[in-house]
Amino acid sequence: MSFAATATKPSFGRFFLPGPTEVLPEILAAQTRPMIGHRGKGMEQLIAQMMPGLMSLFRTTRPVYICSSSATGLMEASVRNCARRRVLSLVNGAFSERFFKIVQANGLQADALEVPLGQPHTPELLAGALKGKDYDAVTVVHSETSTGALNPIRDLAAVAHAAGDVLLLVDSVTGIAGAPVETDAWKLDFVLTGSQKALALPPGLALGVANEAALERARGAANRGTYFDLVEFDNYIRKNQTPNTPALSLMYALAAQMERIERETVEARWARHAAMATRTWSWAAERGIEVLAPAGYRSPTVTCLRMPAGKKGSEVNEKMKARGYTISAGYGTLKDTTIRIGHMGDHTVDELDELLAVLAEVMAA
Ligand SMILES: *Cc1c(COP(=O)(O)O)cnc(C)c1O
Repeated sequence: MSFAATATKPSFGRFFLPGPTEVLPEILAAQTRPMIGHRGKGMEQLIAQMMPGLMSLFRTTRPVYICSSSATGLMEASVRNCARRRVLSLVNGAFSERFFKIVQANGLQADALEVPLGQPHTPELLAGALKGKDYDAVTVVHSETSTGALNPIRDLAAVAHAAGDVLLLVDSVTGIAGAPVETDAWKLDFVLTGSQKALALPPGLALGVANEAALERARGAANRGTYFDLVEFDNYIRKNQTPNTPALSLMYALAAQMERIERETVEARWARHAAMATRTWSWAAERGIEVLAPAGYRSPTVTCLRMPAGKKGSEVNEKMKARGYTISAGYGTLKDTTIRIGHMGDHTVDELDELLAVLAEVMAA
């Protein structure tokens, strides 16, 4: 097989992996535009044109940084730039644990506040953990993709700020563009996402917003490194540029996707995700299948379903593959006891219904 050859396109609507998600053919095609210089007018126009859309996606008046890395890059950036000494990491699954490990790997004092897989972190729990401690930052995953739990980041931000000079660093990789996020109104200090989840773009770009408090921390961070220096990101984006040569082809795809999102509207995109999630939960309830995360704390972009006795997540996943549908087995220790459906990106309830009909057959077999 030659990767240079044009692949035959499978019909859209059968790929429900919780990342990377399915990318529309027209968005993939946007990447074939010719290269331009990254210090020229063309690049400045490209960034200037999509910036208002990006800002309304994050609900912020601040610039959105465009980083040529996967989302983990900006997770590390947030820690290196915005944490000073001692960090509390809210851990409820694989990605929040990654955030914790990033804190440790960067030589900071790190404590994990763990709750069982599938559970969220309540404001009361965070308030208790911050009491009498001198943390300067808290890491949290908004939508924990490994379990489908949604953390109440608005309330967690309020609790963090009430505790003093504590910044909330938010991984909203499967939140932004699928779940409501109000960066400014909720006073989120740093929020990041990646291109390959609810934004339904190919992987390789990370997007982030720092508020003034986060940027002030960055300015005072002696060892914030070079590639993920948020002060540099801030300086360059104000000139509609990036500090280094960006992943230009991906930026074409992002610009094309921002035009689509503008037409759909951010609110309608949130509503479409909420509808897909609700559909999945009621489908499960009708069959007595348990959703791992409790009601009220479920992500609108990914659902983790507990497998009934006698059904293995990895086997259900394989059988779905044989029927032409991609979902995911559980993550890590949940591999066999759960499956995950990524109902995010540009999918619709109609496509999801077709998937759930096939899943019902596979589960009944
Ligand atoms: C996918 C994901 C990440 C990691 O993203 P990469 O792009 O692979 O670095 C981090 N956090 C969450 C919640 C994710 O879903």
